[in-house]
Amino acid sequence: MTDTHLIKPILDYDYPTVASGQGIYLHDTDGKTYIDGCSGAVTASIGHGVPEIVEAMKAQAEKVSFAYRSQFTSEPAEALARKLSEWSGGRWSWSFFVNSGSEATETAMKIAIQHWQEKGRDRKNRFISRWMSYHGITMGALSMSGNILRRKRFIPLLEDYPSVSAPYCYRCPLKEAHPGCGMKCAQELETSILRIGPEHIAGFIAEPIIGASGGAVTPPEGYYQEIKRICDKYDILFIADEVMTGLGRAGKKFGIEHWGVDPDIVALGKGMSAGYTPMAATLVSDKVMEPILKGSKSIMAGHTYSANPQSAAVCLAVLDYMEKHDLVRKAEENGEYLFGKLQEMAKRLEIVGDVRGKGMLLGLEFVPDVRTKGIFPLSLGVTARVIKRAFDKGLLVYPASGGIDGAAGDAIIVSPPLIITPEQIDSLVSILEKSIFEVQEELR
Ligand code: PLP
Repeated sequence: MTDTHLIKPILDYDYPTVASGQGIYLHDTDGKTYIDGCSGAVTASIGHGVPEIVEAMKAQAEKVSFAYRSQFTSEPAEALARKLSEWSGGRWSWSFFVNSGSEATETAMKIAIQHWQEKGRDRKNRFISRWMSYHGITMGALSMSGNILRRKRFIPLLEDYPSVSAPYCYRCPLKEAHPGCGMKCAQELETSILRIGPEHIAGFIAEPIIGASGGAVTPPEGYYQEIKRICDKYDILFIADEVMTGLGRAGKKFGIEHWGVDPDIVALGKGMSAGYTPMAATLVSDKVMEPILKGSKSIMAGHTYSANPQSAAVCLAVLDYMEKHDLVRKAEENGEYLFGKLQEMAKRLEIVGDVRGKGMLLGLEFVPDVRTKGIFPLSLGVTARVIKRAFDKGLLVYPASGGIDGAAGDAIIVSPPLIITPEQIDSLVSILEKSIFEVQEELR
């Protein structure tokens, strides 16, 4: 154990020290280079060390870094809100800025509750969410999260919001098979609403593609159309948690566009700043804002650093960079290439049961037997072994286990920066294949 006092994720693990980053690569202080195959925590969308972002940071810092949002607005914050509204095609024309994805989903909860209060419907103040989901680590966000491992320690403090099965067709929690199942997982939302009573429910929250709790678990065509129909039927706001899927990551500006429905509120984070500053946002539709604008005219949420000019300027530069380099389209095109390569790789390996996801948000699930699926015992630590082997060879991939089948199951996310080239994808997949192969042999 090192003798510093920084609380790291694992206290007795000797982490390498990061020294610098360039494009899809990170370098440590021992001179080792890593391919960032997961953009850190699916965050560094435009890659590391982009000079334009450093310039924008410097230019804004020379003007003003911080001004409190209750005393001033700022040009970068106004411009960023305009830009996000443009990206959404006006569907969510209001932005509330926060500092993390957890704050973005909690703010979504608060705005949903306030929306109903301002309409005189104070009892609509509860939420429904899905098992096998992650919406953040703060108490409200964790209450909505269905990731059992992350909830476990704090159960007495949490609300029981997860009550609906995930649309996890590879290993259906309802033991059904798609197509032909009538999407019972979506119908469960209606059952849940009726059990609790729609008069008590403010909103339903879901990640368009399930990230950290499942490894890019992607619902079938028609799923979100059905979810939205049920939400509308019972006057329940649909909140899309696009913290991971948003702003190009899933090959569209917003992940939910794959299903062609419009949520009422959208939470963003991660790719919004591409990791260059802690910044996130809750985007809100005119419909949700209307009673607030007519009523109290103030949102009861916010943080000291909300909408600070420095972070807003950085995010604006990130979105400008994405537009200039056409990165949403590249994520779609190169994502298809990466998907194909991972599928080919899976055929050569015995323990990759599923390749899934969209755009540049892809997942692999590991199974003892691809025909009967099964689940590796948690004690074998298969995901951790794959990650360690890849890490040793200079490739970073992201763990997404812990949500599958309760608390077990092994999956990883492969989500490199959107700027990755086909040649770099080939190198990434080659290292990943060697790493998985070694674990497969070790498990024999
Ligand atoms: N929502 C989703 C879908 C996430 O994947 C995450 C983080 O992984 C969060 C919310 C929480 O974001 P943060 O870690 O920035 O608080």
